[in-house]
Amino acid sequence: MLDIRLIRERANEVQEAADRRGIPCDVAELLDIDERYRRQRGQAEAMRAERNARSARIAALIRDGREAEGTTEKREAAELAARMAQTEAELKQLERDRDRRLLEVPNWISPDTPDGVTDEDNVEIRRWGEPSAADFPMFSHVELGEKLGLLDLRRGVKIGGSRQYVLKGAGLMLHRAVQQLALDLLGDEGFTLLDVPVMANEAAFTATGFFPAFRDQAFELEGERRFLAGTAEVPLVAMYAGETIDLTEPLRLAAATPCFRSEVGKAGKDVHGLYRVHQFAKVEQVVICRADPALADRWLARILSHAEKLLQLLELPYRVMAVCTGDLSYKNYKQFDLETWMPSRHAYGETHSASNLLDFQARRAGIRYRDEEGQLRFAYTLNNTMAATPRILIPLLENHQRADGSVRVPEALRPYMRGMEEIRLP
Ligand code: AMP
Repeated sequence: MLDIRLIRERANEVQEAADRRGIPCDVAELLDIDERYRRQRGQAEAMRAERNARSARIAALIRDGREAEGTTEKREAAELAARMAQTEAELKQLERDRDRRLLEVPNWISPDTPDGVTDEDNVEIRRWGEPSAADFPMFSHVELGEKLGLLDLRRGVKIGGSRQYVLKGAGLMLHRAVQQLALDLLGDEGFTLLDVPVMANEAAFTATGFFPAFRDQAFELEGERRFLAGTAEVPLVAMYAGETIDLTEPLRLAAATPCFRSEVGKAGKDVHGLYRVHQFAKVEQVVICRADPALADRWLARILSHAEKLLQLLELPYRVMAVCTGDLSYKNYKQFDLETWMPSRHAYGETHSASNLLDFQARRAGIRYRDEEGQLRFAYTLNNTMAATPRILIPLLENHQRADGSVRVPEALRPYMRGMEEIRLP
């Protein structure tokens, strides 16, 4: 959420930022409601002052034993009370309208974000590793997974419908090994490792910017007014909602959680295999720091480098993409995606997404700190995937397959897989 005072002062820039993203947002309309809200608030305050003055006069007449003289005053006070109730109700409605629209206004856009409409306009920043040109027929992760007994898609769908899967044996070990390696790397970087609820209330989703914009992406627990989080970013940020925290050092938080996404609007897209599923596991990094743009920039680079280190340890070719205006989530100020080479797609596929949100989330969530002058300020928040699996199993299985049908386990994962060096049919 942006500061309404800044929206008033820089309305054109806010409108331009929304337009560049292609997000419908009428800043003039918001400011019109805000203006009406402020006028109404002024009227309500004047009425309250008048009511207090009248009450004082009536009390004085009663105290002096001259109550009979106050008949007109009392009648006028009753009329005023009725008008006040009406004005207060209108004020509440205007406030609700204004706040609802305020929640929909997208974040500022960093000056170095490339312009563009879709992810095809994202700009490659750098690459690591070379996609291997295998001299044998390569199999997809689904073929490898089924042949090697790692994956059972048919039974996954039988249990839970489309976009469901069952991981088995070394498939499950790989899935858990990646998560544990990811957590260990973040532990080494001084991150606090947490286990957090993934069932969260509406306030947590609104505070973190997922509601109202992405409400249809969340599965709601019927009759509970609680939802399943699609990322640990929701609980990791919302756990500090409404608090004033010490940010002498940035808070570095990480959690491995199941993630649930409805993927509404993606019908027919990536339906086969493990790319786009309803339930997956993600190790997420969240940083909450002082409202210092240079500091946030450095942390964005750092959380990106953590994910790059993981991909390098997994020996997977990837590229870093600067996300363009049209592909930038409405809550992000700046975003980099990591795309990892997926041979069956003959393309790089997104496996990580790193974002700097400035104070967009903290303002909604009410997360503040005291700066050097003792002033209360909203914090900055950043996040990045550390590992999302089973999507990462796609490049892992496909890039490390060998001509004899086995899959090599990268060295970094072996300690987490009881020393297993390769996955092959017994
Ligand atoms: P996001 O939180 O949307 O930036 O996603 C972070 C990462 O989670 C993506 O880069 C993917 O690796 C993974 N991911 C997101 N949605 C899905 C999904 N429906 N199925 C599998 N993995 C997903």
